[in-house]
Amino acid sequence: MSKFRLKLTGLFMIMIGISVLAAGLLMGNSYQKNHQEALRDHMIRELHVLNAAAPWPHMDDEAEQSSYLQRQAKRFNEIAGMRVTYINLDGRVMGDSDHDPATMDNHHDRKEIQQALLEGTGSSIRHSDTLMQNMMYVAIKVNSETNDAKQGIIRLAMSLGDIESSLNNMWLALIFGLFLLFAVAGVVSYRVALSVTRPLERMTSAAKRMANMDYAIRVPEGGRDEMGELARALNAMAGSLQEQLDEIRQNGTRLQSVVDNILSGVVMISHDGIITLYNREAEQLLGSTVRERVGRSYTEIRQHFELVALIREAINNPVSVHEELTVYYPEERLLEINIVPMTMSGEDELGILLVLQDVSAIRRLERMRSEFVANVSHELKTPVAAVKGFAETLLAGAMNDPETAKSFLTIIQDESDRLNRLIGDILELSKIESRRSPLQFTPIDLPMFLGRMTELLSAEAAKKEILLDVQVDEGLFLEADEDRLGQILMNLIQNGINYTPEGGKVKVRAEIIEADDDEEELVRIIVSDTGIGIPKKDIPRVFERFYRVDKARSRSSGGTGLGLSIVKHLTELHHGTIRVESTVGVGSQFILELPLLQP
Ligand code: ADP
Repeated sequence: MSKFRLKLTGLFMIMIGISVLAAGLLMGNSYQKNHQEALRDHMIRELHVLNAAAPWPHMDDEAEQSSYLQRQAKRFNEIAGMRVTYINLDGRVMGDSDHDPATMDNHHDRKEIQQALLEGTGSSIRHSDTLMQNMMYVAIKVNSETNDAKQGIIRLAMSLGDIESSLNNMWLALIFGLFLLFAVAGVVSYRVALSVTRPLERMTSAAKRMANMDYAIRVPEGGRDEMGELARALNAMAGSLQEQLDEIRQNGTRLQSVVDNILSGVVMISHDGIITLYNREAEQLLGSTVRERVGRSYTEIRQHFELVALIREAINNPVSVHEELTVYYPEERLLEINIVPMTMSGEDELGILLVLQDVSAIRRLERMRSEFVANVSHELKTPVAAVKGFAETLLAGAMNDPETAKSFLTIIQDESDRLNRLIGDILELSKIESRRSPLQFTPIDLPMFLGRMTELLSAEAAKKEILLDVQVDEGLFLEADEDRLGQILMNLIQNGINYTPEGGKVKVRAEIIEADDDEEELVRIIVSDTGIGIPKKDIPRVFERFYRVDKARSRSSGGTGLGLSIVKHLTELHHGTIRVESTVGVGSQFILELPLLQP
């Protein structure tokens, strides 16, 4: 039971108790008073009857008078059972039904006597020590039978024992009634308190749950009274809190997913060095999980000594920092680090926000680009220098010897052709890399297509007495960009012819690879030769730009060193793969695998 309900019940019971008690006391008192008054009136009436029946005697002899009155008192006592006392105006007892008047005190000072002397009638209630109980005394002043100056006082005394015992009974009944009333009042007040406190209790427990952020709770709204009003207000509050919380949660999740999916590492550190946020990309870049980091000090990032030093400096001196740092854990990376001082919610001092970006790839690309530019310049310089040198020699006089002039001019022509091819290949490569011309996929009848390719190169092959052979099943189709596929195969077959000594063999074979359940169907085209082969150490690099195993040989065969890198690019644009297997002195085979249908 709630304290409040207990209090309320107690309060009700105290109130009811007090009013019932007051009513009881009032009732008891007035009952007692009424009873005593009735008794007094009754005794006064009896006194008058007694006086009428046996008036105060007109006797001069006091002894005689006294004995008469004594007799009268005794007689009356026998009839009515009440003590009667006859008293002189000066207080002397003249006759008494219960005692001998000679032994009795002067009664002049008794209250009832005083009152009777003054007003004619008097009464008093006193405790009688002789009888050990409360007595009521009533007295009246009477004249003698002849109405002369002789006067006296007659007094009746009666025990109040009977009245008192009936009063006691009444009190007992009253107390019992009171008790019963009290018990009923207790039950009723408990029920009343319950009806008041139950909604309160419900609301209290609802409010407590709201304090624990459970805003789905609602209380029964009840009637139109204040309680109902309060319940409605509480429900409305819960509703609006829930809405707000939902919105905050939504914002939070939105923000969380932004932070999680952002492609930069984000780390927040409070002014006292505690990591408060550590996103997924930071996990990737710095190698520790959120669980290991959030809530701990940044100094625990032991693997990154330089980063820790940088953070320390930023916390001590909050200014923006931009820095590039190489980290070696979990792997070697070049990180671009931006540190911004920022206020955290609820803190006065500045914390810091760290944004990390992996720039290894960008830097690598930049390096590759500048290397490429250097390579291109170098590659272009060689033929230009040759053209220039021979032209100068011709001008210096070699022109006059037709033999020499012809051979020099032939060299100039060859070098210009090379230059042309080189520029052509560079442009081609840049076009492919920048994806300026999208591929046009069409179904290609492979047997026909490969036949045409070999035909185009047959003259070249024949010059070196190389056998060109095509092996492909009839009706094999492939979805590809016809021109680009032609470029790929031309390059591969031409390389085969170039790097195969006279009398060798270059073979092109195409087949379909049956796919497993969820794999796509592939077409494998293998260009193999019986040429010089490629040393093992060079195999991984032959697809790089300008990479040649044997520079001189490549030059003499008119190569640019760009063919295979163009092939690789074009293959990737077709969502395919290319690899090479080779044995020096035996031959090479380039294995091209393309999806039968483009995704
Ligand atoms: P290049 O224009 O020099 O032929 P490529 O990119 O086509 O340039 O080839 C790169 C290098 O790979 C060549 O210089 C050569 O050393 C090697 N190579 C390519 N194809 C073959 C082959 N079929 N047999 C042996 N070596 C080859």
